[in-house]
Amino acid sequence: MLVLGMLLAVGLIFVLPYVGSGGSKVDYSFFRSQLESGDEGNIKSVVFFEGNNKISGEWKEPPDDPAEKPAEKPADDGKKAPKKLPARFVTYRPPVDDKDLIPLLQSRNVPYQTEPAAWGPGASLIVNMLIVLAVIGFVWFMLRRSADPLGPGGMAGSFIRSPAKRFAPSEQHNSFDDVAGMEQSKRELQEVVEFLKNPAKFQRLGAQIPKGVLLMGPPGTGKTLLARATAGEAGVPFFSINGSEFIQMFVGVGASRVRDMFRTAKDSAPCILFIDEIDAVGRVRGAGVGGGHDEREQTLNQILSEMDGFTQNEAVIVLAATNRPDVLDPALLRPGRFDRHVPIDRPTRTGRVGILKVHTRKVPLADNVNLETIATGTIGFSGADLRNLVNEAALNAAREGKTQVDADDFDAAKDRVLMGPKREEILNDKERAMTAYHEAGHALVAWLLPDLDPVHKVTIVPRGRALGVTQLLADEERHHIGEQRLHSNLVLAMGGRAAEKLVFDEYSAGAENDIQQATDIARRMVAHWGMSEAIGPLAFHQSEEHPFLGKEMHEMRQYSEQTAHVIDQEMQRFVNEASQRATEILAAHRDKLEQIAQALLEREMLDREEITAILGARAPAVAAKAS
Ligand code: ADP
Ligand code: MG
Ligand code: ZN
Repeated sequence: MLVLGMLLAVGLIFVLPYVGSGGSKVDYSFFRSQLESGDEGNIKSVVFFEGNNKISGEWKEPPDDPAEKPAEKPADDGKKAPKKLPARFVTYRPPVDDKDLIPLLQSRNVPYQTEPAAWGPGASLIVNMLIVLAVIGFVWFMLRRSADPLGPGGMAGSFIRSPAKRFAPSEQHNSFDDVAGMEQSKRELQEVVEFLKNPAKFQRLGAQIPKGVLLMGPPGTGKTLLARATAGEAGVPFFSINGSEFIQMFVGVGASRVRDMFRTAKDSAPCILFIDEIDAVGRVRGAGVGGGHDEREQTLNQILSEMDGFTQNEAVIVLAATNRPDVLDPALLRPGRFDRHVPIDRPTRTGRVGILKVHTRKVPLADNVNLETIATGTIGFSGADLRNLVNEAALNAAREGKTQVDADDFDAAKDRVLMGPKREEILNDKERAMTAYHEAGHALVAWLLPDLDPVHKVTIVPRGRALGVTQLLADEERHHIGEQRLHSNLVLAMGGRAAEKLVFDEYSAGAENDIQQATDIARRMVAHWGMSEAIGPLAFHQSEEHPFLGKEMHEMRQYSEQTAHVIDQEMQRFVNEASQRATEILAAHRDKLEQIAQALLEREMLDREEITAILGARAPAVAAKAS
């Protein structure tokens, strides 16, 4: 785009001299002959151009076109008159001086004048300078344009430019007030705010301000929000870019984008430069081969060297966010780079109340809505989930034509957020029955294993991608996941297909997701968490997938064939034992299984109260031991 623009500008300048000097071009000899013809000559007026050989002028009487003459055929009977030239002409003097020309013009009373030099050789320096100036001006204009928030990218969506979006202080409406909870994280960032507000105060005392702050936490916990709020709070410009925007098919482009981005940021210091999802570029180097990886590494290297190039005087703070701090290149985390780490967790109950308050500011709530209760029932929800919950509730109320959002809307919204939207799907009786027993199996196992969270809802209404859902929901926050609980989770996952086998003596294809989940848990227990005696406390990581190319980054496997074999065996043992345990539990409580399944077939959905009514209060009768 930029290149095109330059061509345009240059082209315009070269075209200019020919504009406005209209007239047909004739030979000099023809011009001379017309000047000399007859007594008066056939030239009305002439203009010379200083510095070049051009002459333009006007005929008294437009002569016949000399080029037409040879083509004229006698057969035409002279019926068709020869073509006349236009009223004006242009010609060029030969390089040898025609000394007779001026006397001749005077003798024939032809007025002549000279146009001052515009594009002659004497002026070519100026012309060249003008071209250069025009190009520079044009480029400058384009760069300015794309820095303009009104036209992000603008016409200059050129790929060497960093696509970082700039937000002026005035357009940041976020402040720490919009971020509920996270008191600890806000306190950490308060220091950054103070520094950006008054860098001199810190610099005078030689205080070392962190250059890079890394926000890390699960998706949707408000990392991006917090970064924006920090800029808003400090009242400084905010440059935001996503890690994936650096990754391009063209080698070297990512690196030049980084250079450009840092340069822009330094020009508007004090400011915040925010690299969201930095793991897209910041993954461990040397983890793969191929163009994509080389490009990523160059980009990462450029980020590292730019951060090293910062001096303490430059009031630019680089914030970055990731939900995969484990895959980041250690070089990024070194002192002088992203050495300040702010962990962000899923909100606690108090945090959730705060977040619900923030997002219901503009929502008219009915009296029966109690945000405290909703917060209690949404353990494990992230800030984004909660915002989504409020929005779904409002949508639900709007669909039903209510003027206020009430508790029922929040219930419906919670189901939707937890289990996905309902699907209209017609199942035949066998499919419905199998789904009912499958879900009843999950639910019964969950009810009977005391270290699992209580069942919140069971449904055989197809939702999301599943035919049925058993949803557990914690009563209390858990930060520590023990070995027994993991084994219980394996049993829970196997509960569905164990019920199918028990009742129908065959498996359906509906357990794919359960099996996948169980396999993942088992692998981590064995290969990451040292929960297998045979393997011991050693970490054996699998190869990672490239975040965008979807290819495997071929990491050399760091362990032997033999170890791989033992890991596989242990995983199999864990899952098979869980499956067996599930079968035992369900067989021992076959009557309860039938009751839940029948209730599901009747009512399609059971909540916690209804399940309690069937099964009685949860008893810690069955010990959750799976070995
Ligand atoms: P992340 O970047 O961590 O994935 P975001 O910052 O994009 O998460 O959060 C998504 C949305 O969730 C935010 O725009 C905000 O509306 C909401 N949200 C998350 N955490 C909070 C919070 N602590 N207070 C208020 N809203 C929040
Ligand atoms: Mg984010
Ligand atoms: Zn299942």
